[in-house]
Amino acid sequence: MYRCDDVLAEISDLLDEETSPDVRRQIETHLACCGSCQALVDSTRMTVRFVSECGELEVPIAEPDALVRRVMERLRRGGA
Ligand SMILES: [Zn+2]
Repeated sequence: MYRCDDVLAEISDLLDEETSPDVRRQIETHLACCGSCQALVDSTRMTVRFVSECGELEVPIAEPDALVRRVMERLRRGGA
């Protein structure tokens, strides 16, 4: 069973569609019962899409870990 830390570790691969089907299933199982990871995946995905559509990168896409950390911090602070 995946925990939040495991999802966090896989999130950039997940968004890049580079996870194996097995890992993806584990993550989806976790997301189904964990609202904070759902919110994290959603907001990270939206941020990545926004950044790639705009072209001008405020957050370097070459540093997905930094992006995830920033989103996590915001979630923690916002209490989401
Ligand atoms: Zn979680």
